[in-house]
Amino acid sequence: METIGSLGEFGLIEIIRRRFNAPEGVVGIGDDCAVIPHGEDDILVTADLLVEKVHFLREDVSPWRLGWKSAAVNLSDVAAMGGRPMGTFLSLALPPDITTEWAEEFISGYETISKRFNAPLLGGDTTSSKGDIAINVAVLGLIGHGRAKLRSQARIGDAICVTGPLGDSGAGLKVILSGVARGDDENYLVGRHYCPMPRVDEGTLLAELSGVHAMMDISDGVASDLNHILTASGVGAEVEVTKLPISRQMRSCAELHGWDPVKLALSAGEDYELLFTCDESALDLIRMPFYRIGTIVEGSGLSYLSEGEKRSLEISGFTHF
Ligand code: ADP
Ligand code: MG
Repeated sequence: METIGSLGEFGLIEIIRRRFNAPEGVVGIGDDCAVIPHGEDDILVTADLLVEKVHFLREDVSPWRLGWKSAAVNLSDVAAMGGRPMGTFLSLALPPDITTEWAEEFISGYETISKRFNAPLLGGDTTSSKGDIAINVAVLGLIGHGRAKLRSQARIGDAICVTGPLGDSGAGLKVILSGVARGDDENYLVGRHYCPMPRVDEGTLLAELSGVHAMMDISDGVASDLNHILTASGVGAEVEVTKLPISRQMRSCAELHGWDPVKLALSAGEDYELLFTCDESALDLIRMPFYRIGTIVEGSGLSYLSEGEKRSLEISGFTHF
């Protein structure tokens, strides 16, 4: 029997998607959020699961940071459509040895980010677990009807841009897993891994610009995530690797520990920056920091350039199984 290991995460999602065609006018499986028209607005809905030993190590992450991150990764999916979050639902499966103090701290982190983004917790579910912690968060968001930025809207000639440095989170994870000594730079990267900042304000600004076409958040790494935009839009892309934004802290840690900063920037995931494509003429209208990393081209698939010359790179993003 074939296992889901050989099918892969996206193969499994495809099997599910084939059985559930979205109703007319609704965006269903395949984008960062479902988009459900409702009067003058569209309702955005998304859910994400965090599982102990897959997404975090209980001994390493503070419960406060885990609470923050659980909400952050979901709020990021609303940001990826250009929407505003309205509220969240939190479901927890916790083993009985979790302390009250741990639970209080977890909720405190969750509360802090909820207040920061005006997204109150409205419900959820709580159960015991026989082993690991599992955390599911669902977020509801809102955007004007027809204004959500979809993965399928990239156009040939579009600039490809990101809202912030890439690979910090992945380098933070490498610090955690490799057990290297932690100085200021290492601590900064671990912080970026456990406390990502969802780009909600940036997403709403970008959604106001008609010259911005496709958008998504970077959860699995540009190498994988940009491919979702390419497939959904039926186009190809060229990414200039010398233009990838890399933080000072990541570059210096990569040098010190012998890691490849370009590989981390492209494939390491969980940065939760926004990845978007836009008309060249829209670049001057974007009132926030952003970095152009490439261009949408005819064809399919992603190719890499280094100072304009084609370069072959063995890069793949994160996928489960
Ligand atoms: P993201 O990283 O933005 O959360 P994913 O790559 O996890 O997106 O998921 C891709 C798409 O597949 C999303 O539209 C998501 O809602 C959908 N999806 C993932 N898992 C399932 C599932 N078990 N059932 C239905 N839809 C799913
Ligand atoms: Mg996403």
